[in-house]
Amino acid sequence: MHAYINEIFNSIQGEGPYVGVRQVFVRFAQCQLHCAYCDTPLSRNIPAHCRVERKPGGGNFHSIKNPLRKGDLEELVRKLWTHSTRHVSLTGGEPLIHADFIRELEQEYPLYLETNSGFPDKAKELRDIISIASCDIKLPEHDSTDHYEELLANELETISIFNETAETFVKIVILPETTRESISPAISGIASIDRSIPLILQPATQKKMVPTGLLLELMDFAGEILKDVRLIPQTHKMMGLP
Ligand code: SF4
Repeated sequence: MHAYINEIFNSIQGEGPYVGVRQVFVRFAQCQLHCAYCDTPLSRNIPAHCRVERKPGGGNFHSIKNPLRKGDLEELVRKLWTHSTRHVSLTGGEPLIHADFIRELEQEYPLYLETNSGFPDKAKELRDIISIASCDIKLPEHDSTDHYEELLANELETISIFNETAETFVKIVILPETTRESISPAISGIASIDRSIPLILQPATQKKMVPTGLLLELMDFAGEILKDVRLIPQTHKMMGLP
């Protein structure tokens, strides 16, 4: 079995409640969405080569030809694992596009999945092997798709599937244009599954800053019905990490 992968490296998780935890990142290629704020636009393509870090956290890469075989990836992850590393982060792009490949991997390390939550059928395939699921919900102003309601329904179904078996939290990127009205269906949807699912509001890292007042207002709005709402910016960018 093969998969197209953009890069493999060891770094610090920079987003969400696991910020600061060391992980081996496997950035899969391809994504079905086109978010306006995407910070990994190249990962939406199918690359001829995969960048692989030579030494854990060294930031020095070499290229190997795509697609990678399952055994190749397992060996590369083993080489990049260190004593303080805790998870293999399956990221992208959209890793659930490669669910069949991930399903076949040897279960040597805990798997941390970062998904746009758009593929509930693939989530069902992987639910028993994922330890932690970081599930995005997109907002209309993200301009991720021409079929927003269908995407939101798929995202909520994916969250519900992972919430049964994995530690699950939801991440929503906040833009300066975000309003109570635009985020409201996402918040009600999470509450309809489980009010205890943590919701992380993540201000978009871009030139136009999201006003702090708006972030606090949206926190309170979500906190009216959800039990655990947190505001966590992307910290890896502050440290200049990938
Ligand atoms: S889901 Fe993620 S990888 Fe895909 S376009 Fe949106 S931000 Fe980029």
